[in-house]
Amino acid sequence: MLYKIKEIFKSIQGEGYHVGRKAVFVRFTGCNLWNGNINMRKNAICNFCDTDFAGTDGLNGGKYNLDQLVKKIHMVWNSTFSREKKFVVLTGGEPLLQVNEKLINALKSLNFYVALETNGTINTNIKFDWICVSPKENSLWKLKNGDELKVVYPQHKFNLKALEKLDFKYFFLQPKYDSLKRLNLVKTLNYCKLNENWFPSFQIHKVLRIN
Ligand code: SF4
Repeated sequence: MLYKIKEIFKSIQGEGYHVGRKAVFVRFTGCNLWNGNINMRKNAICNFCDTDFAGTDGLNGGKYNLDQLVKKIHMVWNSTFSREKKFVVLTGGEPLLQVNEKLINALKSLNFYVALETNGTINTNIKFDWICVSPKENSLWKLKNGDELKVVYPQHKFNLKALEKLDFKYFFLQPKYDSLKRLNLVKTLNYCKLNENWFPSFQIHKVLRIN
């Protein structure tokens, strides 16, 4: 099997529970909720995506077999972060379209802490170290447990009170990054002030303009 990868880069986690932590990000090509064509986003199941996950043309992008991919991730980590606890974030697109147990086992054998960021439409039994689910209101949500639930806000079809009962350790609201982003930010803060189970998550990397 060849993994299709949009990009692999080192950065600081800018959102959610692990914010501030150094990581290698592996962005898998493709998503099952939008084809990545900007002209078709309006009618996609997920229509507020701000990520380019199409193709394999990003930094360190390409098609990799298992061995090549693990070596590349390790090399990117070692290029700057060698003395830290190794941390890799598998993201996309939708990484569960491609991620398999062999990849996770290989990364863990190199002592990587392996985090997954998924839209929750694909179930998995793979033992990740951290699972962050960010559901989309018009999709069929299947993976309803994990470590971190991150809801892009607002999505009016979600009943946040009901979501609190799901099997997650942390609940984050993240303002939707669209033309109403300022208003979404205020709404997010107001909701979290009034509802102690929810924490705001900001995309600090966007504010700082870092990858
Ligand atoms: S599910 Fe995630 S990657 Fe897919 S289109 Fe939506 S925001 Fe983008």
